[in-house]
Amino acid sequence: MTRSNDHKAPARRDALKGALGLGLTGLAGVPAFAQDALRLRIRTLAAAVQPKVVSWRRDIHQNPELSNREFNTSKKVATELKRLGLEVRTLAKTGVVGVLKGGKPGPAVALRADMDALPVEEKTGEPFASKAMGEYEGNKVPVAHACGHDAHTAMLLGAAEVLSMIKADIAGSVVFIFQPAEEGKPGGETGGAALMVAEGALDAPKVQSIFGIHVWPEAAGVLSFRSEGFMAAADRIEIRLKGTQTHGAQPWKGVDITALASHCVQAINQVTARQLDPREPTVITIATMHGGARFNIIPETFVLGGTMRTFSVARRKDAIEKVTRTIKAQAQAYGADAEIIFTPFAPLTFNDPALAAYLTPTLISSVGAKAVNDKAIPNTVSEDFSEFQAKVPGLYCFLGIVPPGQDPATAPPNHSPYFDIYEPAMEVGVRTHALVALSMLARKA
Ligand SMILES: [Zn+2]
Ligand SMILES: [Zn+2]
Repeated sequence: MTRSNDHKAPARRDALKGALGLGLTGLAGVPAFAQDALRLRIRTLAAAVQPKVVSWRRDIHQNPELSNREFNTSKKVATELKRLGLEVRTLAKTGVVGVLKGGKPGPAVALRADMDALPVEEKTGEPFASKAMGEYEGNKVPVAHACGHDAHTAMLLGAAEVLSMIKADIAGSVVFIFQPAEEGKPGGETGGAALMVAEGALDAPKVQSIFGIHVWPEAAGVLSFRSEGFMAAADRIEIRLKGTQTHGAQPWKGVDITALASHCVQAINQVTARQLDPREPTVITIATMHGGARFNIIPETFVLGGTMRTFSVARRKDAIEKVTRTIKAQAQAYGADAEIIFTPFAPLTFNDPALAAYLTPTLISSVGAKAVNDKAIPNTVSEDFSEFQAKVPGLYCFLGIVPPGQDPATAPPNHSPYFDIYEPAMEVGVRTHALVALSMLARKA
């Protein structure tokens, strides 16, 4: 995900113990008589496949590739899926989709992982730490899996292996989606979840619902999410101010656009503070101001750039209207023109409330009630899993990866050069993917 804040979840030190113990509640949608046997089988298979998952993760970790450049990762994924007998197709540049057809008729559901790494120099000190270099915006940069997408890819391959082994008992199809460029496509390129959707990742077969996991600095094995707006909608803001150029000594002969620009920044901060209900979080940031070339010339134009993070469609609309109105009024006061442009960067990661409620018992069956937090706080980072959720109901959740005994509050955040994962937690991810797939298949459309 594109990280922008700190998310401090409550520490749950005993979570892994709970996560590795047998769950006590039901597996949604699966008949009661079949539940225990199936759950136990998945648990056993996920444990059996764990050494492979660890070796996949380390291999991908050691060979990270930037967004839209996941050439080798994509090949490895396709090879593994073909080995399992899945129908495999490539799309959206380096994306891979594998379809597992169960032995019984039924609907299709999807599980998703992202595969790209970041321009970050790894400093974890792991024996399998990345030493890779890549090219980012014309510069040679170190590359590392500082957001854990290596683990996402490995866990989803593990789930594909587990579900392949119980294929005969599966009623319907499971679609495994490995997408490129979650962290953002390079300038001028298309890519990521939006392109996967456009090229039919959810269409053949037609997917009924989708599930995804992101590793996060919480206690290992904890699954956390919230219903409805979970991760922010991100919009890019551009404000173009235009006045009349004048001498710095004679501001009244033109428009003091520099003063207007500074008023606009303050006015926007006031919108968040005074015009929007604070019970729902909103972040509006002006990060850049560009204008002028010389100390004694007030320029004709000024451009402000920033970002907005919102958690509901209604709030996004309201904030856009209020920012636009406020900036227009400021410009009018100065006799200038203002153009305010909001460009969606990622839609709201919206967890379908009905699906979230339906799957909560399944998550509990995977890790135990103590290790499921269904009331996570809204997170101001954005995530393009939202593009899939805009098409079909979806649930996105965090999986804790901080080792037992370490306070998650002190763990390096995603995108840090020190970001690392506690590998035994991946077994929880594999198991959860597999259990959720079966539950989603059993859900009445
Ligand atoms: Zn990420
Ligand atoms: Zn990220």
